[in-house]
Amino acid sequence: MKEKLPDLVVITDVCLCQYTDHGHCGVVKGDTIDNDASLDLIARTALSHARAGADMVAPSDMMDGRVAEIREILDENNFSQIPIMSYAAKYCSAYYGPFRSAADSAPKFGDRRTYQMDPANALEAIREVTMDIEEGADIIMVKPALAYLDIICRVREEIDLPLAAYNVSGEFSMIKAAEKMGWIDGSKVMMETLTAIKRAGADMILTYFAIEAAQVLRS
Ligand SMILES: [Zn+2]
Repeated sequence: MKEKLPDLVVITDVCLCQYTDHGHCGVVKGDTIDNDASLDLIARTALSHARAGADMVAPSDMMDGRVAEIREILDENNFSQIPIMSYAAKYCSAYYGPFRSAADSAPKFGDRRTYQMDPANALEAIREVTMDIEEGADIIMVKPALAYLDIICRVREEIDLPLAAYNVSGEFSMIKAAEKMGWIDGSKVMMETLTAIKRAGADMILTYFAIEAAQVLRS
């Protein structure tokens, strides 16, 4: 991508679940996830992305300590200019369903509850975000977006770093499905949803609607 379109900003998702047969985001020992054993692999994965031309790396694994580890390895290898966008408050959500079936990345056993956050917990989001900022994150992210607008709003009030929100596959698919059924005006609901995420405090939105929304904004 960088060879063909050098001006395109490429941000890469850094995680291990794409490369593990069990589908977990970290190293598995027995039937638990070994947080600390995962850090070196995650950092080296981020370095490989930077070497391949990524303009920014975005760790999505939710292991504690990975932002610091990535910052260190990037700095040691002359990539101190590469920013880190951290999936800082990532909830254990059923809204990831369509992506998981498309990417075949659902964990083969257990779930991601031990490292992703409990949807009922709001205070932990502030803790996770603060920790990632202390470790050197440049942009922090809340994921998913729509059922977590209050979290976006709270994080916005607490911190002054750029804040991203991830409008995930389930949020996208529900609008697409309802539009297909003739129940809603898909384009209008898309824009209303993206506006709500922005209004809640997101500076940037990661969304499968990107092209469609850009077309509406340009028209
Ligand atoms: Zn993962």
